[in-house]
Amino acid sequence: MRVMIDAGHGGYDPGATSNGLKEKDLTLKLALDVAEDLESLYGIEVLLTRTEDVFISLEDRVLKGNTAEVDYFVSLHHNAGGGTGFESYIYPGYQQTQTGVMQERLHQWLSTFYQQYMIRDRGRKQADFYVLRHTLMPAILLENLFVDTLDDASFLKDPVFLRQLATEIAKGIYQAVA
Ligand SMILES: [Zn+2]
Repeated sequence: MRVMIDAGHGGYDPGATSNGLKEKDLTLKLALDVAEDLESLYGIEVLLTRTEDVFISLEDRVLKGNTAEVDYFVSLHHNAGGGTGFESYIYPGYQQTQTGVMQERLHQWLSTFYQQYMIRDRGRKQADFYVLRHTLMPAILLENLFVDTLDDASFLKDPVFLRQLATEIAKGIYQAVA
């Protein structure tokens, strides 16, 4: 079992920036911690699209996953645009496939985690995102909280919360691929 963890953005592409937060830094920190837990706690082999602050094109991210023939592709992002909470995305029309089953498992696990903090579950969604369309294996994209919403940002600024979130994402991935 091999999983690709994709830390969104990087290098000259900071992603969403607000409240002193940069999406690219948050996704990298999360990705490294998720990888650590998946390997040390669950014995799952992890590949990362990036392990440092560098720009990687969407094409190259997908290529890395497809070339390595990983079993699951998980792209980490943080939202912006004035909302609150978390949501997950798969490619449109895939609900009835393995991709949909894995989304349900991972999403539900995270929803329960977020409930403890009264953080809103925005639902399981579908979108024609590049990394979802071109990956040859089940793929999911997670939007963990809004950097431009003060309440959400205060969670993302808390290193203890962020580490716990990584632990829960890893647990959720483990359940999704089990
Ligand atoms: Zn993003």
